[in-house]
Amino acid sequence: MRKKTKLIILSAPSGAGKTTLVHHLMKKVPNLAFSISATSRKPRKGEVNGKDYYFISAEEFKKKIREGAFVEWEEVYENQFYGTLIAEVERLRKEGKHVVFDVDVKGGLSIKRLYGNDALAVFIKPPSMQVLEQRLRKRSTEDEESLKKRLARAEEELSFESRFDVTLINDDLEKAKKEIVEVVKQFVEKE
Ligand code: ADP
Ligand code: 5GP
Repeated sequence: MRKKTKLIILSAPSGAGKTTLVHHLMKKVPNLAFSISATSRKPRKGEVNGKDYYFISAEEFKKKIREGAFVEWEEVYENQFYGTLIAEVERLRKEGKHVVFDVDVKGGLSIKRLYGNDALAVFIKPPSMQVLEQRLRKRSTEDEESLKKRLARAEEELSFESRFDVTLINDDLEKAKKEIVEVVKQFVEKE
């Protein structure tokens, strides 16, 4: 019989390195698929609709909430909605894939609550708030207002660490990449 597919959740404050680590993970561990979330935020330069996110309007997002289309959703920043689509998760699990999520801490814990031992919730921790700010500034994707919103929320998000299954500190990137691959391989290979 085919093994049950699993769910791997990566959560962290914005700028901690989730996207970087998810991209690495997808290259290194077989049979994973990324759960593409829906969001009402605007695409950044280089982001592709249907690959990084399903970019939809706030109105469309609210309609989907009413229709019950989400596993979970959060208004992560004021008037910026993000959510995991039931249809997306079902599609990937039907293909026999382990599903990887890049979601905020509250969304991450909601998914963990729903799927229990089939899910591994990983908290990606930046070495410090200062480093987090430096990374976000260097990434140059946010204007000053968006940056401030993200940093303000980061303080609260860091307090969720103890509710996750595993913490991974993203200080030295090469080390963090090795660690995430190890942790995920162990989890998916476990019965
Ligand atoms: P998130 O998806 O959590 O918002 P990103 O993966 O976009 O974070 O990372 C934020 C920025 O920091 C990116 O520019 C990325 O290249 C950089 N970065 C990620 N990890 C490290 C690290 N360990 N050391 C230095 N820079 C990093
Ligand atoms: P960004 O705008 O930087 O891509 O994402 C902002 C935050 O929203 C990040 O913490 C990211 O993980 C989170 N996020 C992305 N997709 C989802 C989702 O489907 N649900 C929830 N709850 N958060 C999400």
